[in-house]
Amino acid sequence: MLITELIFATNNANKVKEIKSVVGEQLAIISLEDAGIDIDIPEPHDTLEANASEKSFVIHTLTGKNCFSEDTGLEVTALNGAPGVKSARYAGDGRNFQANIDQLLNNLHGQTDRSAQFRTVVSLIWNEKEYLFEGICKGTILKEQRGQDGFGYDPVFVPESALKSFAEMSMEEKNQYSHRKKAISQLVAFLQKHL
Ligand code: IMP
Repeated sequence: MLITELIFATNNANKVKEIKSVVGEQLAIISLEDAGIDIDIPEPHDTLEANASEKSFVIHTLTGKNCFSEDTGLEVTALNGAPGVKSARYAGDGRNFQANIDQLLNNLHGQTDRSAQFRTVVSLIWNEKEYLFEGICKGTILKEQRGQDGFGYDPVFVPESALKSFAEMSMEEKNQYSHRKKAISQLVAFLQKHL
């Protein structure tokens, strides 16, 4: 079987684990760590699309290889789409998951509309051209944290039609709803057509 290697431009081990669990055996995901690349890729832009592009172009320029990146934001209706592209640094540059959740729950205190969505944008650089894919998961922000698994805002996010928070789900369960899974499935379908 032909195995295609694709560098995933991220330092987030949770994302690597999630994406490896989604792609089939035909696709070998090489993390930056596996590729021996030690770099903190900037996310300076004000859209998920521009940040995802920046990350994949930085790694493509470094390696000359096909690669992809993703940028994800939690978009909360009552906060006019915040934290959005600032999700990682909502409570400051420390990128602290717990501080970010505390900030979110504080800002939503007393709000009746707790609807939100995770949105993932994937930028794939394939044979010198860029392709963008998007995945959305709609849901609700809880008033209190539930569950121990996952990362980021998982303990306070319940997807539509689910009873558990993402942090109460196994990875397989999270993949039934996940924004990241939806975006990556499009990337996989694209590669299946173009390989
Ligand atoms: P990034 O900029 O794409 O790395 O992600 C921004 C932030 O969004 C992360 O630091 C997490 O806090 C949060 N995030 C991204 N994806 C998820 C997810 O699947 N579940 C919960 N939080 C997430």
